[in-house]
Amino acid sequence: MLKVRVLGSGDAFNAGGALHSAYLLEHEKGRMLLESGPSVLAGLKKAKIAPESIDAVLVSHLHGDHFGGVPFLILDYLFRSHRERPLVIAGPPGTMARSRAVYSELYKEEHFHKLKFELVEQPVGPGDEFELAGFKCSAFQVPHMAEPFCLGYKLESGGASVLFSGDSAWTDAFVEHSRNCDLFLCECCSLEPETDFHTSYADILMHREELGCDRLVLTHLGPDVRAAADLEVERAYDGMLIEVG
Ligand SMILES: [Zn+2]
Repeated sequence: MLKVRVLGSGDAFNAGGALHSAYLLEHEKGRMLLESGPSVLAGLKKAKIAPESIDAVLVSHLHGDHFGGVPFLILDYLFRSHRERPLVIAGPPGTMARSRAVYSELYKEEHFHKLKFELVEQPVGPGDEFELAGFKCSAFQVPHMAEPFCLGYKLESGGASVLFSGDSAWTDAFVEHSRNCDLFLCECCSLEPETDFHTSYADILMHREELGCDRLVLTHLGPDVRAAADLEVERAYDGMLIEVG
């Protein structure tokens, strides 16, 4: 059984008070943290998930609301949960360096040398297939930011599969990768198109019939999407638990 726990369903601005992007994917082989926004410790602790139980972190791109929680995970491992086993941090090239740089700016004391565990960097690029925390993972580039690129992911375990959009404008890659997929977690920042680097609810409705997933759940919700009274498509909320497959 693959379980997805939504720790943070919010956008960069915490619309509606929702936490920044973070999802815990769990199966019998381990736990993966997909995205690590700055509020990740709040999400984990509200859900009563011990931070040290995470085997790997996977990040879609290097915007702060998606990776800015890595320094706080490190802080927790140093001073609260006292992690001793290795932690894999996977994402676009530079994820580890940027996380270390942010940590060093926030906590000038440079605690990194005191880490009692190994931080293992796993750079990921478009088209890569790899294993992380026992999940079979594949990455594809999505249209959101240029340098470095933003990735969408397909994550599989024991016949169950999750497609994650990352942050992205609508792309036909979602149609292609959603085939035979159990769950598609798709970002939705606004009801109507507002930018050319995010997906709107109107985009999703236009392409909904093309998708091959069993279940579509909207996340990274902007204020109007969150406040809308009745949408045809399911919305994520902080603390939501989804059993997949
Ligand atoms: Zn972004």
